Amino acid sequence: MTEKIVVSGVSVDTRHWIGGRRVASAETFTDSSPIDGQPIGEIARGGPPEAAAAVAAARDAFPSWAATPRAERARILHAIADGVDKRVEELAIVETTDNGALLRSHRHGVMPRVAHNFRFFADWLLRLDHEDFDTRGHRNHVSWDPAGPCVLITPWNAPLMLATWKVAPALAAGNTVVLKPAEWSPLTASLLADIAAEAGLPAGVFNVVQGYGAEVGDALTSHPDVRRISFTGSVPTASRIAASAAANLTPLSLELGGKSPLLVFADADLELAVDLAVEQYDNAGQVCLAGTRLLVEESVAEEFTRRFVARADALRQGDPRDEATDIGPNIHPRQLEKIDGFVRRAVDAGARAVIGGHRRDGQFYAPTLLTDVAQDSEVVQEEVFGPVLTLQTFADEDEAVRLANDTRFGLAATLATGDPERAERVTAALVAGTVWVNCFFVRDLQAPFGGSRLSGVGREGGTWSFDFYCDLKNTVTAPKGWKDH
Ligand code: NAD
Repeated sequence: MTEKIVVSGVSVDTRHWIGGRRVASAETFTDSSPIDGQPIGEIARGGPPEAAAAVAAARDAFPSWAATPRAERARILHAIADGVDKRVEELAIVETTDNGALLRSHRHGVMPRVAHNFRFFADWLLRLDHEDFDTRGHRNHVSWDPAGPCVLITPWNAPLMLATWKVAPALAAGNTVVLKPAEWSPLTASLLADIAAEAGLPAGVFNVVQGYGAEVGDALTSHPDVRRISFTGSVPTASRIAASAAANLTPLSLELGGKSPLLVFADADLELAVDLAVEQYDNAGQVCLAGTRLLVEESVAEEFTRRFVARADALRQGDPRDEATDIGPNIHPRQLEKIDGFVRRAVDAGARAVIGGHRRDGQFYAPTLLTDVAQDSEVVQEEVFGPVLTLQTFADEDEAVRLANDTRFGLAATLATGDPERAERVTAALVAGTVWVNCFFVRDLQAPFGGSRLSGVGREGGTWSFDFYCDLKNTVTAPKGWKDH
């Protein structure tokens, strides 16, 4: 296999990264760009042997990394952040070429935040502590012990961003890592391996295995030496991983899909509500948090729809490398098929496409708004993961909450309302890991992030990440001279 490819001027190693060395596989798979559908390169296609080698490398490297003082671990994480900062342009263009998301957002938002992910968890590590407390004179001391090798499995819609939400706290906590990036967007994980090595992360502490989930996944998730599995992806894959991890009772963190509502009340600033709604097309709708169900109070539905359509029509769809583009391509021909299937079936069942409802040349799907959809229909209940929104109306607050909560998911919800008391009432009644009131996508790393119901298990961010990646230990020490009679 070719060991290195050049992607938009950036050299990327296509092999695994195991135990501080590049490792090839006999077989490869083809990675293509959603921008033009053309192959980018051949990537190492891992299987059980590569998975086993990566876990062994992580296991061997664990004792020394776990024993590395916190300040030194934090220093290396900051050095990784510096490496990311230096390579923002390279990471941005490679990610855009690989997954088709907007270059301007990778360049100005995502990649700087990837660096921040490392800095944030490095700094949090240094503050991480519980207050000691006494029980009848005995001192209780809680410590955060590193857990061991962690398997991190990530999707393609925000590859490096989502991977580093896991890699950074796992490493900060003193664990070693095997990262399995998605096969549709494998490249920036390989660049991160280069950056981590340059930053001085010891061999075996961070490993990358490339390949198809079905071929490499089970060997990673059923491995008895693996102490944590953190997964972001779809519900069916999460179920398979949970089954595979069950034999060892390996703790799981699962960040899964959503079908989040965006509720627009008549008392809302309608312009703001329209802004929020149009944002749901970001990343061509391939955002787990997207508020794809627009729920609009009847009295403003017509005016809202009129303004929304005018704004959505003005969105520019095209090459994601062009700074003027608002919506890029969808990730893969198979994903386009899936999106189109959802829309066809909805229209066959009586839905009306107010805008869109069809593909465009290349790997693009027209931003779509469907009305006349039934609450129990597939397009209202299932995650499409494309630029497809539905619009339903409600008569009052009770109906709004009932519709909002009536899916199997519970990832996020967005409210547009001018009434703070209503916001409080509705927020309390919603089942969602995150609720945004008159805003969308504001995320602080110290906040808990995750989903309820089928949207996930556990929370990521700040303390919650360390809770997951550590074995908490309470040590109770008797006072001097104390005897148990
Ligand atoms: P996916 O489940 O198909 O794949 C995710 C990852 O799992 C990939 O790396 C894949 O190779 C791997 N995988 C597949 N089968 C496996 C197996 N048997 N064992 C181990 N690993 C396996 O998901 P996707 O299509 O890449 O991503 C889209 C999904 O991710 C959507 O449902 C989206 O909502 C969800 N998502 C959730 C969040 C969140 O934070 N909640 C964020 C982004 C995406």
